[in-house]
Amino acid sequence: MEKINSLTGMLDLISNKADKSEFADKIFLTEKYLKKIFQNYGMSEIRTPALEDTNLFKRSVGDASDIVNKELYSFNDKNDKNIVLRPEGTAGVIRAVIQKKIDLEAHKFWYMGPMWRYERPQKGRYRQFYQAGVEILGNHEGLPEFEMISLICSINQYLLIDKPLIKINHLGDNKIKELYCEDLVKYLSPLKLNLDEKDQNRLKKNPLRILDSKNETTQNILKDAPKINNYISNSSKVLLDEIIKTFSPECNIQIDSSLVRGLDYYTGFVFEAISDDLGAQNAYLGGGRYDNLSSQLGGKNLPAIGMAIGLERLSTLVNAEEASNKLLSFIILSEKINPKAYKIAHDLRLLNENVKIDIQLSEGSLKSKLRRASKDNADYALILGDQELESETVIVKSLKESNSEQKSMSIDELNGFISAIS
Ligand code: AMP
Repeated sequence: MEKINSLTGMLDLISNKADKSEFADKIFLTEKYLKKIFQNYGMSEIRTPALEDTNLFKRSVGDASDIVNKELYSFNDKNDKNIVLRPEGTAGVIRAVIQKKIDLEAHKFWYMGPMWRYERPQKGRYRQFYQAGVEILGNHEGLPEFEMISLICSINQYLLIDKPLIKINHLGDNKIKELYCEDLVKYLSPLKLNLDEKDQNRLKKNPLRILDSKNETTQNILKDAPKINNYISNSSKVLLDEIIKTFSPECNIQIDSSLVRGLDYYTGFVFEAISDDLGAQNAYLGGGRYDNLSSQLGGKNLPAIGMAIGLERLSTLVNAEEASNKLLSFIILSEKINPKAYKIAHDLRLLNENVKIDIQLSEGSLKSKLRRASKDNADYALILGDQELESETVIVKSLKESNSEQKSMSIDELNGFISAIS
């Protein structure tokens, strides 16, 4: 029969032990580290549904953005309601906060989960991808900006990221953003025919996005264009400088006045982290301030700043390793199902959370089970046959030391041995 494959741009993530690929394990490890760091920063978890009302993204991310215009996975449900697989996490978080009527309080949230965008798949760009995000709600510009950059620096440091660069910029408030856009359009309009079709469209719908165009001719034209840093207030410039001063030299931070970010709702402070090791899709996280989103979605005025991290991209840069917990492979040698032997293994598992105990469930000879234990890179094999069961002992065999002898231990001795492993 014909086999059924996964959809284009959607990956199966299967652990290395079964799949011989490190990609998935790196993502799982990155998730573990990120959760720890978020908790370390006193943040609370939030989980919102993957399916949302399509209007949520039309009203937040914006009709003119590529995400809403071309990339939404939207369809009608059985009740003819137009719904969408979420393309990003922020809009859902703000919807939830408004719905729960907690939009007047300050919150620090983190989330993790899959997102969907109908993009052209390429290296580092998928149609289903995972994001971890952070939203700091209820605080005006100032300390939350420091908290965000501090968090990114910690992620770079804990995960031992290759060659990270944090780019920051300030887009001013709504008025400044508008004024700047008008001047940018005035400058670019007479040169319109030199722009490619995509940038000509942006000139009408979303002129700021032209600044991060990948087209070389556009980039040359932009060299003499008005610069946003000549429009923003002095206090915005001071904020950018103070952030660089506070976190340098440990963190590599630079102002990039062409950084605008793709989503409509950003105003004020924006940022992105990139690494040259990623190739063309070099951004592994991005975010900024979005003070108007809550009121745009029918909530109270809720100043906010947030970011989203692309887990597939970040994880390829991670050099930190899994904590090397000892692995013990538990081998039960018995002709029939032996609940008593299983119970001994079960009790051992409760002794020490730093120890992994893998009970081999398949049938086979001692030789094949020892081979399996070595293949799994186990540190010890614990062997329990009928004779051991009778004498209430377990054989402990080191698999890492060459020519090591095996020892027979009483259950009490084994408990002590496992409890002492760090
Ligand atoms: P955005 O929500 O567009 O601001 O993206 C935030 C981060 O998510 C980016 O810096 C990427 O690391 C990641 N990302 C966005 N789109 C994709 C995609 N199609 N595939 C993989 N990662 C993505």
